[in-house]
Amino acid sequence: MTRVVLSIGSNVGDRLARLQSVVDALGDAVRAVSPIYETEAWGGVEQGAFLNAVLVADDPNLDCFAWLRRGQELEQAADRVRGQRWGPRTLDVDIITCHDGDTEIRSATAELTLPHPYAHLRAFVLTPWLAADPEATLTVADTMRPVSLWLEELDPAERASVRLTGLTLHTERAAG
Ligand code: ADP
Ligand code: MG
Repeated sequence: MTRVVLSIGSNVGDRLARLQSVVDALGDAVRAVSPIYETEAWGGVEQGAFLNAVLVADDPNLDCFAWLRRGQELEQAADRVRGQRWGPRTLDVDIITCHDGDTEIRSATAELTLPHPYAHLRAFVLTPWLAADPEATLTVADTMRPVSLWLEELDPAERASVRLTGLTLHTERAAG
């Protein structure tokens, strides 16, 4: 049984529908969803703001690499729906942490780096993650800290760049 924390983001087209497509595809595997946040894109490329959320999901049959492939399938499906083959990234699914039973999986390859190497630096990951799982911890270079503490250590401007929206993701269970 593996349990993952997934960061999902979209800044093209129907951003809400793209995030919802991940929750729908994962179905019963979804254990927790954060509210949806909006984050200005950074890095110098002119592009629209992102919607971001964090999901906690588990599955008895997937290992951490299978979760990576699952996320990539969902990214490809989101692109196909809109036919934007050469357009900007429409859906990003990143694995933030992956636990196999009680063991946190560490991986240091380019294909799969766990925990995600930038998670502790990104308010658009930490803020939704804390909302989805207030008890969450993150280990960086052998230092395990509550996500709330990693978040407190960020630059206030970085924290302020992530705004809560009124948008929500609907899980199958919530829909009854
Ligand atoms: P980014 O998310 O960094 O903006 P991409 O989504 O294009 O960029 O991912 C690029 C590569 O990152 C993928 O080929 C994937 O194999 C690799 N990767 C490494 N670690 C992870 C992780 N924890 N989650 C998702 N992708 C990862
Ligand atoms: Mg990615």
